[in-house]
Amino acid sequence: PASSLDELVALCKRRGFIFQGSEIYGGLQGTYDYGPLGVELKNNLKQAWWRRNVYERDDMEGLDASILTHRLVLHYSGHEATFADPMVDNRISKKRYRLDHLLKEQPEEVLRRLYRAMEVEEGNLHALVQAMMQAPERAGGAMTAAGVLDPATAEPGDWTPPRYFNMMFKTYVGPVEDEASLAYLRPETAQGIFVNFKNVLDSTSRKLPFGIAQIGKAFRNEITPRNFIFRVREFEQMEIEYFVRPGEDEYWHRYWVEERLRWWQEMGLSRDNLVPYEQPPEELAHYAKATVDILYRFPHGLEELEGIANRTDFDLGSHTKDQEELGITARVLRNEHSTARLAYRDPDTGKWFVPYVIEPSAGVDRGVLALLSEAFTREELPNGEERIVLKLKPQLAPIKVAVIPLVKNRPEITEYAKRLKARLQALGLGRILYEDTGNIGKAYRRHDEVGTPFAITVDYDTIGQSKDGTSRLKDTVTVRDRDTMEQIRLHVDELEGFLREKLRW
Ligand code: ATP
Repeated sequence: PASSLDELVALCKRRGFIFQGSEIYGGLQGTYDYGPLGVELKNNLKQAWWRRNVYERDDMEGLDASILTHRLVLHYSGHEATFADPMVDNRISKKRYRLDHLLKEQPEEVLRRLYRAMEVEEGNLHALVQAMMQAPERAGGAMTAAGVLDPATAEPGDWTPPRYFNMMFKTYVGPVEDEASLAYLRPETAQGIFVNFKNVLDSTSRKLPFGIAQIGKAFRNEITPRNFIFRVREFEQMEIEYFVRPGEDEYWHRYWVEERLRWWQEMGLSRDNLVPYEQPPEELAHYAKATVDILYRFPHGLEELEGIANRTDFDLGSHTKDQEELGITARVLRNEHSTARLAYRDPDTGKWFVPYVIEPSAGVDRGVLALLSEAFTREELPNGEERIVLKLKPQLAPIKVAVIPLVKNRPEITEYAKRLKARLQALGLGRILYEDTGNIGKAYRRHDEVGTPFAITVDYDTIGQSKDGTSRLKDTVTVRDRDTMEQIRLHVDELEGFLREKLRW
């Protein structure tokens, strides 16, 4: 695995996986652009998720809701009031930080002084932040007195009282920029699923339990985007809302934690680097009955890759009309605007109720970062040289096969290689690249670095002009394996079977 983020950032830029957004104008912080190989890797990951969660199941429907979202959706979901992170400013350096991130980076003795000043049991950072937000004036003073360091300057700061900052991006829909035209870029894809619950149910006649799956962009105005594509302002999520009968929720919650852990391992992440973390009661969001985060050992630390929450009837209960008739258990805002009953009529009893929901919510970009980090390998070769290999699962690799002519100046060889590329491309296994840009050794090295699992070389033997004067190797090619670097010789007619076997899910 990668030992640092810098190593991955460098590879991503050098080989065309990921670039800084708006780079030529100095970059737009918290945005990244996926390059020629990055887009393939990301698409492969999303397709694998979709295949597993939609196509291979018989209890799931897909959805692609819009990014621009009506203000009332995010009002009743609770985002307008509470989708905020605690923020604090250093009056000296004018730098701004997310409070919990800032505290995590402090030396122990500084933190100890702060715990004491705020009268919070030492070691419980979550409780400390809460105490500080409840007494912001005192907290600002305590931070300054405790000598909280500014990471930018490594000097103690003069800290303002911390305050909440709402992370939603606002925009205006239509030509007039006023209150009435205010809309949001969605901060999560989930709300699009909840508000379409009735549409999906009515159009598919689903019975509980069933789920709705969605992949798409989400936007959060993070106070301090950082750690490459780990924390950004524009990212993608892969989310499932799985609707169940109250009472069956705990079973399904456990089920989805196991299922998601299994899936990430199938994507190539090792079990040792995946850590399920059960949120203690004091950390739970008010609507969640239980949440298990799947943490991954990223190069910058053990951090959240996916969260799996039991959200009870909070979401449908928040957005439904007829709230008082439905026996909602969660604490929801009184909804005076919704035009739909987001509930389920029990086919046996005829009684209406609001289903509970289990939400596995994964970040695509964090997934890509985890895959890259896990796959990154430095190897010493027998001849003493070093190579970098990206040991991605072949199914996820941006390029499946490189077809390389041994020489560039023999039309019989290059034309053969081009025809072979077209033939393999038609199999629909992903991107097959015809490659005649350098010497063979260099091409192999490059494809090792970007994770291409197979390199096929077309040579004199292939066109029936072997050194021994025979044509017995006609129509055979060499296939080089990325990980073992071993080469085998196959007849071109065997390639389809070989590749299908190696690349099937
Ligand atoms: P964090 O605590 O790291 O800010 P979160 O708990 O707010 O994350 P959720 O709201 O649970 O995150 O979002 C679900 C998933 O979306 C996360 O597990 C993560 O993979 C992804 N995600 C959330 N925020 C970001 C971000 N700013 N950049 C990239 N991915 C993100």
